[in-house]
Amino acid sequence: KKLGVALVGLGYYSTDLLAPALQHTQQCYLSAIVTGTKAKESQWASQYGIKNSNIYNYDNFDDIKNNADIDIVYVVLPNSMHKEFTIRAAQAGKHVICEKPMALNAIECEEMILACKKNNVRLTIGYRLHFEPYTQHIMSLGKSLPFGDIKYIQAAAEFRTQPEDFPNSWRLKKSMGGGWMMDMGIYAIQAARYSKQMEPVAVTAQTANSRPQYFKEVTETTTAQLYFPDGSLAQITGTAATFVGNLTVAAADGQYYLSPFWTYEGIRGGTLSKPFDFPLVHQQVTQLDEMAISIRDNLPMRVEAEEGLKDMRVMDAIFRSIALGGKKVII
Ligand code: NAD
Repeated sequence: KKLGVALVGLGYYSTDLLAPALQHTQQCYLSAIVTGTKAKESQWASQYGIKNSNIYNYDNFDDIKNNADIDIVYVVLPNSMHKEFTIRAAQAGKHVICEKPMALNAIECEEMILACKKNNVRLTIGYRLHFEPYTQHIMSLGKSLPFGDIKYIQAAAEFRTQPEDFPNSWRLKKSMGGGWMMDMGIYAIQAARYSKQMEPVAVTAQTANSRPQYFKEVTETTTAQLYFPDGSLAQITGTAATFVGNLTVAAADGQYYLSPFWTYEGIRGGTLSKPFDFPLVHQQVTQLDEMAISIRDNLPMRVEAEEGLKDMRVMDAIFRSIALGGKKVII
């Protein structure tokens, strides 16, 4: 059976990436939409052939519990709304894919995990890179350690943003989970953890802001040092100031990199002497199909919800360090 997916929040990522991907998936399909914008209802219904009875808004969302066409709810809302809609979906008895970052903080993540366990539904996070071959290779090198122990990791996830083009965006609002550490820095936290295959134990963090007229509540650039229990270090950055994103992993006897490391397409990398060579996959199609199989056949998830929680524990420590003027914070 192809599982039915309801997209909740029809903004950029749903419109440009997920809905088109759901036209190519084999294991799941776009069965329903949840939107607060009336005009999108008929537009999406005709574009994607969605039944009238499968269109919901944020108020009547809980009625999905009676809809057999919906197996999975995919939460693609501003970060501050992830917790509420994940818990409401779980209470409606639906499995949940929640976009990154999982929530505003680790406590919210724990509440989401608990709600899904209580309601006996699966919860996973939209970490598409876990389904991408170059990234998977970096993870396997972190386990096999062909160049000896990993001593230093550098990961910068940077998306050049022109805040003057969207002064009212939730991404500029702290209360909505905005800011570029939450938006892009999460990829750098992920990269540090999956490259090292170890959990950091302490953090120091700093911020910088070259355009304070736009970045008032959230910072333009956040950089942090993640300290691992074996004495190794990751230097990570999330920024809106420029547009590249690279990952370098330096081990005792050699190093390798991905550049860019977080994009939808075009991920490349190698050691200093030899490029990696992996096939291009459609990240969102691969992610959605594999998640649907895991849910349908009750198999382990490639991305368990705890993966999102672990990142938010690091994120919490980063914000705490910044609040303490860069002091070292134990995770
Ligand atoms: P967006 O601003 O384009 O879309 C957000 C949607 O939420 C809009 O349709 C908006 O109408 C709706 N919404 C409902 N209530 C709202 C409110 N109170 N304020 C603002 N919007 C409200 O954002 P996006 O880029 O689609 O991001 C949505 C989520 O997807 C975020 O969590 C983001 O981090 C994630 N995302 C993930 C990836 C990825 O590669 N995995 C890429 C982009 C975005």
